[in-house]
Order: sequence, then C-alpha cells, then structure tokens
Amino acid sequence: LVMPLGQLIGSYTQLQTGLGALARVQEVLALEPEHDEVPERPVAGRSPVVLRTPTGADPVPLLQLDGVGFGYPDGTAVLHDVSFAVPAGSRVALVGPSGAGKSTVLALVEGFYPLSAGAVRWAGTDVRELPRAALRARMGYVEQEAPVLAGTVRENLLLAAPDAGEEQLWQALSDVGLTGVVQRSARGLDVAVGDDGVLLSGGERQRLAIARSLLARPALLLLDEPTASLDARNEGLLRDTLAAAAADRALLVVAHRLSTVIDSDQIVVLDAGRVVAVGTHADLVDTSPLYRELATAQLLV
Ligand code: ATP
Repeated sequence: LVMPLGQLIGSYTQLQTGLGALARVQEVLALEPEHDEVPERPVAGRSPVVLRTPTGADPVPLLQLDGVGFGYPDGTAVLHDVSFAVPAGSRVALVGPSGAGKSTVLALVEGFYPLSAGAVRWAGTDVRELPRAALRARMGYVEQEAPVLAGTVRENLLLAAPDAGEEQLWQALSDVGLTGVVQRSARGLDVAVGDDGVLLSGGERQRLAIARSLLARPALLLLDEPTASLDARNEGLLRDTLAAAAADRALLVVAHRLSTVIDSDQIVVLDAGRVVAVGTHADLVDTSPLYRELATAQLLV
C-alpha cells in the first residue's frame, strides 16, 4: 500500500507543478503585443532613427532615467520619480531593501512595461522613439535566475553569438572564471549543462549566462545578482566577473550583496521606490543612514 500511495503523492505534486506552469503560459499568451515598436527602416515622411552609442568621453550619458514613475498593472505604484544616469563605460549599482523596486528598474530599462511617468533615455533620446530591437541588441540582460538552457556549454554560448570561434568561446568562459570547470570534462565545450553534465550551482549558471551576454558585445550589461546566498568563492568569482565585464562596457547591477558592488563608480540607493541617495561607497557610508545600515548589516563598515 505504501508504494502506490507514495506514487500517488508524487503524481499529485507533478500535477500541481504542471498546473502552475500552464497558468504562467496562459499569462504570457494573454499579454498584449508591444505596441510602441518603432520601425528600424525609415518610413516615408519620417526621418530615419539613428541609434547612437556614446563612448566614455561623451558628455551625454549612455543611459538615463528621468523622473521615472511606474506601477504594475495589477497593483499600486512601485517607482516614484526615479532619476539617475549610467555614463558610457561606467559601473552603476542599485541597492536597497527587498521590494524597493530594484529589479523593476531593470525591467523598465529593458522596455518590458510602459512607464507611467518620466522617460528612459539612450544617449539622450527617449527610448520610445528608438527601434526597440536595435536597442535591445546593445543591451545584455542577465536575470536573477540565470536562464541556462538544457544542452551543451557551446550551445548555450552560441545562442548569443552564432559566429563566435573556439577562441572567443574560451575567452568568454575565462572572463567569467568557468574555464576550469569546463576543462575538467573530457568533452570540453560539448559537455552538457544540467543534471547529467556540469555547471549545476546557481553561481556557475549565472556566470555562464553572463559569458553568453558578453559574447554579444553589448554596450550596457544589466545584471540582477542572485538573491540566493552564494558561497564565498562564488561571490569572489562574481566580483571578478563584473570587473572583467566592466572593462569595455557600462554595467548596471542590482546588488543584494554590497561586497560585489563596493567599487562601483556610483551606487544608487532605492527605498520604497524612491532614490534616497547616490554616491560612491565611501560617500554613502558618511551620508546615507540607510546605506550605512545595509553596509553595517553586511559587516562592511
Ligand atoms: P528584491 O531585493 O527582493 O529582489 P527588489 O528591490 O528587486 O526586491 P522588485 O522585485 O522590483 O523589488 O519589486 C518591487 C515591488 O513590485 C514589490 O512590492 C513587488 O512585490 C512588486 N512586483 C514585482 N514584480 C511584480 C510583478 N510582476 N507584478 C506585480 N507586482 C510586482
């Protein structure tokens, strides 16, 4: 009796998981198509849209949020009058308590939702006036739950850059500190990722997703650091990865661990959807009580 009962309970759990997945698929199917797509080709009577990517010397920031307000369709306002800039080549971190709106800022930069107030600007131009596909091609976005696909390491990397050569793939792995893990397998780049392969830890998966993003050479990398605890080694590796990624692009990183972003050019402190302070770690420890509290809780002061 025990065995069939166990199987029945297992099937019930599977059914619940399946129903959850089905609900999410239905949510996606119900979404309205993006309506503010701007054509990349010039339209008669309209001047062609030029997507400029400033360099470090340019006075216009690569990305700017200007008085951004937003609420999810089903709820109350989440962001209020959020303004900050990410100059080309710089490293900016978003920190703040859980629920402050950090991940939402990244979703808005990616253009997943329409704003209720303000603007997101790329090189000074409101992104609503720019071709979305071209804009997204200049941004890499690595979510908290790194979306690593079933398949091999090579397949995962080639998704972003189908023409990348062997050397580029190994370089990308080296930038994120994964060379050793992949080299340990006799199959090298053709080792499977997942249950029967390598790269199982959350930290490793996220670094593989970062490597994939970097291969597409984005001008701006958006990264949502995993909330789940990383061990000290993975935390150190993530810090090194960010330093390598920042070498020739701008970075906007949502950080739960201040230690990974302590050396950012600017740290934006969000609290209940508002920017309450902006500065370097040293500035903020002196000027922002909330930042000092976060830093003290993480034993950084
Ligand atoms: P954490 O540090 O816990 O990841 P966060 O600062 O990144 O938090 P967000 O995830 O941006 O915060 O969430 C801000 C607010 O928006 C929260 O109150 C959250 O419940 C709500 N929220 C987030 N995503 C959605 C969504 N898809 N639909 C409705 N509300 C949402």
